[in-house]
Amino acid sequence: MQSFNPPSRILMGPGPSDVAPRVLEALARPTIGHLDPAFVSLMDEIKSLLQYVFQTENRLTIPVSAPGSAGMETCFMNLVQPGDKVLVCINGVFGGRMREVAKRAGGVITSVENEWGEAVDVGAVEKALQQDPDIKFLAFVHAETSTGVRSDARALCNLAKQYDCLCIVDAVTSLAGVELRVDEWGIDAIYSGTQKCLSCVPGISPVSFSERAVELIQAREHLNFSWFLDLKLVMDYWGNGDTKAKRAYHHTAPVNSLYALHESLLMVKEEGLEEAWARHAQHHKALVAGLESLGIKMLVDQDIRLPELNTIAIPEGIDDAAVRTDLLKQFDLEIGAGLGKFAGNAWRIGLMGSACTRSNVDACIAALAAVLNQHGYACDGDAAAVAIENAYSDA
Ligand SMILES: *Cc1c(COP(=O)(O)O)cnc(C)c1O
Repeated sequence: MQSFNPPSRILMGPGPSDVAPRVLEALARPTIGHLDPAFVSLMDEIKSLLQYVFQTENRLTIPVSAPGSAGMETCFMNLVQPGDKVLVCINGVFGGRMREVAKRAGGVITSVENEWGEAVDVGAVEKALQQDPDIKFLAFVHAETSTGVRSDARALCNLAKQYDCLCIVDAVTSLAGVELRVDEWGIDAIYSGTQKCLSCVPGISPVSFSERAVELIQAREHLNFSWFLDLKLVMDYWGNGDTKAKRAYHHTAPVNSLYALHESLLMVKEEGLEEAWARHAQHHKALVAGLESLGIKMLVDQDIRLPELNTIAIPEGIDDAAVRTDLLKQFDLEIGAGLGKFAGNAWRIGLMGSACTRSNVDACIAALAAVLNQHGYACDGDAAAVAIENAYSDA
């Protein structure tokens, strides 16, 4: 055995996405103690940068020391108590996971289900809320990564307010990729991940809670089923907005990964959040022009497409896995397979964070054209390159 040196890849799947060299450099800096005063200052900066990317003043805005799924559990385990009614919107894999997690927190679940490839139906959610005034939480996925669909988070949060519910939002794929405004939209609890549009290393989950949510957590009657994710304990380490409060050990923070998170958040801040949203929209448009020129069909309607995750139909007769293997072998390019009901008939092309660039759009379309031709699907890579060029010059 010898040291592991990963191959160099272009990551255009559903995450992780390409991590910028300066983020990797930050990760490699010397480890210091998780209660070192210098580290505590870094923690405070991370919280303030997270408030920026979430567009919130929420004091309880921290990174959970585990991947996006742990952020999901943090929200449900802390807010939902046994017997609480939770309305979960399901239009793909991750909405289904929310239901599972809410159940494990002891929630009594009602769900509104939509077809794969469709957005959450706001009208159906309103009907469900009208039917049961005891519903306490409305949970939905803003950017459903399994299908590439964006739901109307603002409208759903409005409904939650109108029917006196707290809303729990999955923003793992939306944060820093599409418009998201926690305070303006009135989101009560939100979680994300570092490995999608933040382009940081995987394994951390930023979360944020409104004052109303914090009050509910403080007033819990039932002991939290999770010790590790119990925010009442975690707050002793991260502080609840009070920078002067003494920090106590709860668990050892992933010190180096947090250096990386700080750097990746700084990159978003330097670019500007709205500029980052616009960049995702711009390269998405060019990618779609290239794909359509190759004769490939987009599976999601234009008005609800996620720019950072493009779900496309696998052309008839083409071997799903063989094409993805050839893209990886010949071009070092990773794209995503279909998930759940889309497995075997869709590919998912990510344009997330640092991977969302013109050179990746060009490389992806050229590689796809070459490999599809090898597999007997005739298409013109040069014409697609012109379509991309036109899409950029139109902008
Ligand atoms: C990736 C993803 C998750 C899970 O994040 P992990 O970091 O893989 O645990 C949850 N929700 C959505 C919408 C995702 O895309």
